Amino acid sequence: MNVRIRLIRHATLIVEYNGHKLIVDPMFDGPSVRPPIQNSPNPRNNPLVPLPMPAEEVVQGVEAALVTHTHSDHWDGTAARLLSKTTPLFGQIEDESKFRGQGFTQVQPVTSSVEWNGITISRTGGQHGCGEIGKAMAPVSGFVLRAKGEPTLYIAGDTIWCDEVQSAIREHNPAIIVVNAGAAQFLEGGPITMSADDVIATAQASSRARLIAVHMESINHCLLTRDDLTFQLDAARVIDRVAIPQDGEGVEI
Ligand SMILES: [Zn+2]
Repeated sequence: MNVRIRLIRHATLIVEYNGHKLIVDPMFDGPSVRPPIQNSPNPRNNPLVPLPMPAEEVVQGVEAALVTHTHSDHWDGTAARLLSKTTPLFGQIEDESKFRGQGFTQVQPVTSSVEWNGITISRTGGQHGCGEIGKAMAPVSGFVLRAKGEPTLYIAGDTIWCDEVQSAIREHNPAIIVVNAGAAQFLEGGPITMSADDVIATAQASSRARLIAVHMESINHCLLTRDDLTFQLDAARVIDRVAIPQDGEGVEI
């Protein structure tokens, strides 16, 4: 069966997998309601753009949520309010008490892997930046979804290209990889999410996979635009394998 992935905005995705509808990293705040990320360039209020459709519409029919980590651009108060409290909520163990504190009753921490409706959900690691910044931003997770007869889907989460991403690709051999690009950064230090070079490295390390690049043009410190990324992927001759959806746009693989 084909997998349908619709980018809502930033890292928020609707994933239709093995006949089930999941939401990834819901962020539903309206435009400009939050201040800029502290100590970041391009200081504008967040999110930079509105949702492409009402959040109430996005959550309709959602059967489960995957949350890679709870930084405000991946899990916000509006999402916590709009999702049903009985939604199965898969995330990293470090975020379990936060979800329970917000009233969610079916919180399922993924330390290695869990089964849900015929889908094996495995946790993967990552590095949300290099050195001290990466340590301060940790922990983060990604997830691999696998089911009989379905292409394996790897949602890398907020990570740069690193050993953890490379070993996730080796171990799971995904057919589809969602990468968080944007090359988010603070005033000092390198990118904390994938730069164009990181997306290229991911594509080259997974020669059979299709990539979907998201996490751009919605939060002030994400400086890499879709146009910049397209240009650089084209120059590196990997553009044919990388989809760069607009907000609201779906990709079927
Ligand atoms: Zn992020």
